[in-house]
Amino acid sequence: MTGGPTRAEAQARDADDPLAALRERYAIPDPERIYLDGNSLGRPAYAIEERVAATVTDWGARVVEGWPDWVELPRRVGDRLAEICLGARPGEVLVADTTTVNLYKLAHAALDLRPGAVVTDADNFPTDRYVLEGVAIARGRPFILAGSAEEALAEPNAGLVCLSHVDYRSGRLLDIARHRSAAGALVIWDLSHSVGAVRIDLSQADLAIGCSYKYLNAGPGGPGFLYVRREMQDQMVSPIRGWFSQRDQFAMGPTYDPAPGIDRFMAGSPPVIGLAALDASLDLIAEAGIERLAAKGAALTQLIIELADEWLEPLGFAVATPRSPAERGSHVALRHIDAWQVCRALIERAGVVPDFRRPDLIRFGAPPIYTRFVDVWDAMDRLRDLVASGRYREVDAGTRRVT
Ligand SMILES: *Cc1c(COP(=O)(O)O)cnc(C)c1O
Repeated sequence: MTGGPTRAEAQARDADDPLAALRERYAIPDPERIYLDGNSLGRPAYAIEERVAATVTDWGARVVEGWPDWVELPRRVGDRLAEICLGARPGEVLVADTTTVNLYKLAHAALDLRPGAVVTDADNFPTDRYVLEGVAIARGRPFILAGSAEEALAEPNAGLVCLSHVDYRSGRLLDIARHRSAAGALVIWDLSHSVGAVRIDLSQADLAIGCSYKYLNAGPGGPGFLYVRREMQDQMVSPIRGWFSQRDQFAMGPTYDPAPGIDRFMAGSPPVIGLAALDASLDLIAEAGIERLAAKGAALTQLIIELADEWLEPLGFAVATPRSPAERGSHVALRHIDAWQVCRALIERAGVVPDFRRPDLIRFGAPPIYTRFVDVWDAMDRLRDLVASGRYREVDAGTRRVT
C-alpha cells in the first residue's frame, strides 16, 4: 500500500506536460477540491464566459435580425467539431437538440432503410436503451438487448444496432472501423463518452450522435450533435418534421419538403447560446489537439490504474476498466463493495469529486485538458487514507438523485 509512483514523480510529469498551461484558462475556483467528474460535466473555460456574454450583447443589439447568422451555427459549429474531433467531412455534422433527441431522429430514419430488429447492448447508457425500445415499439420491430457489443453486432436479425463508443461505466473503448454488424445493420455510434477525449475517425461510420458537456466542456445542457455520412443523407428523413428541416423554411409552405443534406436533421430553433459556448470551447480543444489530449488521457488513466493496483487492491478495490490504453476512454471505474459510501466520503470528507454508478462502481474521469497528474495522485492518496482508516464509514449511506 506504499509503493507505486511518488508524488514527486507525478509533479515531474506535470512539469513535462505540453498541455499543462491550458489549465490556467479554465475556471477552477476551488483548487483544493479535486474534480474527477469531467466525464459527466466538464469545467468551463474563461473564454466561454466571454463568448456567452458577447452573444447576449449581440442578441440585445440585433434582436430578431441576428437570426440569419444564428441559423448557420448548427452547421458551422458542426463542421468545426467534425474537423477537430470526429474525422468527419464538412456537411456531415449538425449541433442541435440533445443526444437523446438526436438518437430518436437517427434511429427512426435508419429503420426506413433496413428491415429487422433494433439491437443494443444491455449495458448501454439508459437513455439509449429507452429511446431505442420506444422506437422499436412504434415501428413494430423486435427490440433486442444483447449481452455485449460483440453479441449485438453478431445478431443475425439486426436492422439497426446502437453502441457506445466508450462505455459509460467500464470505460471500454471500441474500435469503430473493426466493429461492424454481421447482418449489415446500420450502426449508430454514441460518442458522448469519447468525444474530446479520444481520437475518433468516422470515415468508416454511417451514423453517430453525442453530447458536448462532458469532455467538450460546453456547459450543463450544452447541445448534442449528430453525424450522418454524406452519401446517406438524402435517403433519410427525420421523424421530427420541424420547420428548420424544411427546404425553403421561410416560404412557410403548405407541405413538408425536407432540405437537402444534413439540414434535414434539424428540428426547431437551435440553442444559440449553447452553440456559442461550444464554439468557444472548441478553440481550446483545437489548440490542445486530439492526439495530445488522447495521449495525456491515456497517461492519466494509466496512473489511476497503477496506483489502484498498488494501494487500493489490498483494500478491496478492483479495476473495472480495460488495462490496454487502446481499449479505454478517459475515465477509470473502480469496483468496491461499499462504493456508494466511499464515493460520498470522498466528496464530503476528502474534497475529491468522482461519481458513483450502481451497483458498485466509482468512476474517476480525468479530462486531459485541465487535469494534472498530481490531482490524480492526490485523489488516490486521499482515497487510500479514507478506506484504510475506515473513516468512510462515518458518512450517511442514504442516497441522492444525481451524484
Ligand atoms: C451523457 C450521455 C447521454 C446524454 O444524453 P442527453 O440527451 O444529453 O441527456 C447520452 N448517451 C450517452 C452514452 C451518454 O454518456
